[in-house]
Amino acid sequence: MVASPAPKVGIVSLGCPKALVDSERIVTRLRAEGYQISPDYGGADLVLVNTCGFLDSAREESLDAIGEAIEANGKVIVTGCLGAEPEVIEAAHPKVLAVTGPHQYEQVMGAVHEHLTPPHNPHMDLVPESGLRLTPRHYAYLKISEGCNNRCSFCIIPKLRGDLASRPIHHVLTEAEQLVRAGVKELLVISQDTSAYGLDVRYQRETWRGDEYDTRFLDLARGLGTLGVWTRMHYVYPYPHVDKVIPLMAEGLITPYLDIPFQHASASVLKAMKRPAKQDRVLERIQEWRRDVPDLAIRSTFIVGFPGETEEDFEVLLDFVREAKIDRAGCFKYENVAHADSRDLPGHVPEEVKEDRWRRFMETQAGVSAARAAAQIGTVQDVIVDGPSETEGELIARTRADAPEVDGVVYLSNADGLNAGDIVAARITDADDYDLFGEPAELN
Ligand code: SF4
Repeated sequence: MVASPAPKVGIVSLGCPKALVDSERIVTRLRAEGYQISPDYGGADLVLVNTCGFLDSAREESLDAIGEAIEANGKVIVTGCLGAEPEVIEAAHPKVLAVTGPHQYEQVMGAVHEHLTPPHNPHMDLVPESGLRLTPRHYAYLKISEGCNNRCSFCIIPKLRGDLASRPIHHVLTEAEQLVRAGVKELLVISQDTSAYGLDVRYQRETWRGDEYDTRFLDLARGLGTLGVWTRMHYVYPYPHVDKVIPLMAEGLITPYLDIPFQHASASVLKAMKRPAKQDRVLERIQEWRRDVPDLAIRSTFIVGFPGETEEDFEVLLDFVREAKIDRAGCFKYENVAHADSRDLPGHVPEEVKEDRWRRFMETQAGVSAARAAAQIGTVQDVIVDGPSETEGELIARTRADAPEVDGVVYLSNADGLNAGDIVAARITDADDYDLFGEPAELN
C-alpha cells in the first residue's frame, strides 16, 4: 500500500522571542503527530499565523500577515497574542478558520485536527529530544514562565497572557540540558519578568541531577551555569536580588550580559508607567556591577514621549543612558495601544515632539555604543559564529556582549573552516557605531 503524503502546515511566526518559543512548541507538536512543515504558502494544506498584539503597529502587521496568508492559501488558523481578541481578527478577516489565544497549544492543535485530518501513523521518533526549533541549531530560547504580575500602564500583556505562571525549575533545567546535548551553545532565557521567576509557586524546591534548586532566578542561573554554554539573561528587572547573579558572571558561569527593560529614568514618568522595581539606586548598582564584572554589557529598551513626559524628564533619561553607559538600546515612540491604561493619562505628547526625542535618544545612545565599540579594538575575545555574511569569505559572529537578532555583530574575515556554532578567539581590528570587525586570533 502506498502511504498518502503527510498533510503540510505552513507557519508564520510574528512578534517577540516569546512568541517564537510558542511557535516552536506548536511545530514540535505538529511534527510529533506526523504533519509536515511547509516552507511556503503554496505547498501548505493550511497556514498557522502566530500573531503579536502588543503595539498597534504589530497588530497591523499581524492583520496584514493573516490577509496575505488567506489570499495565498485560503485556509488559515490564527493564534498568539492578537488571538486574545478574536473579534478584531474576525472583523478584518471573516474567512479565518479558527482563532486561539497565546500559549493555547491544545486549542491550536484541536483547530488543526478539525481542518486538516491528522496522519494515521504519527512518527514520534521524528522529533528530536529537544523539540524542533525555529532558531539556528547553535542557540535556543528558554522560556521559563508565562504571563506577568505587574501592571505597567502602557502594557496589555497581562491582559493577554495572564498572571505570572512559572515552569518548575527542574523542567526548565532538564530542557536546557537536552538543548545543550542537541548541540546548543547559547541559551537565551526569556519570560516577561525573569527576576520574578518562581514568585507564583513560592519558590518551590525541586531536585535536578541530585541537587536541590529553588524555583527562583538565582538558582536558575546557578543550574544553567553548570551546563558550560553561554547563558544570556533577558527581561531582568533590577530587583535587589539581581545583585546576587553578578558573582556568577564574575566566575564566568553566566554570560556578562543583562537585558533590563528600564523604559525610562525619570521618577515621575516611571511612576506614571507603574513600573516594577525601585530605580532609585540603579545607577550606583550598575557601577558596582561593572566594578565586579568590567565587561558586563547592558541592553535595555526605552519609551520616549510617554504621556506627561516633559523636556526635563527626557533630559534625565539622556543623562541616565550616558552615565549608566547603556551599551545597547531599543527606543520606541509611545504608542496609544488599544486597552492600555496609559491611554487615559493626561499630557499626551505631540507626534513631532516624540519624533524629535526619539532622534536625540538614538544619537546619544549611538555615542555610547560607538565608544564601547572603539574600546574593543585590539582586544581578543571569544565570538560565536552565526553563519556567512553577504561578503564572500566573511562570517557573521557575535561577542558575549551581543544577543542574536537585536544587538551588534562581528564581521569575521579570514575565517575559512569555521561553521555556525563554533566559538573561537577573535582579534578585533576595527569598529563602527554598533558592529565590530575582526579575524581569528591564531592568525596574528
Ligand atoms: S513587566 Fe510591565 S511591560 Fe513587562 S509584561 Fe509585565 S506589565 Fe508588561
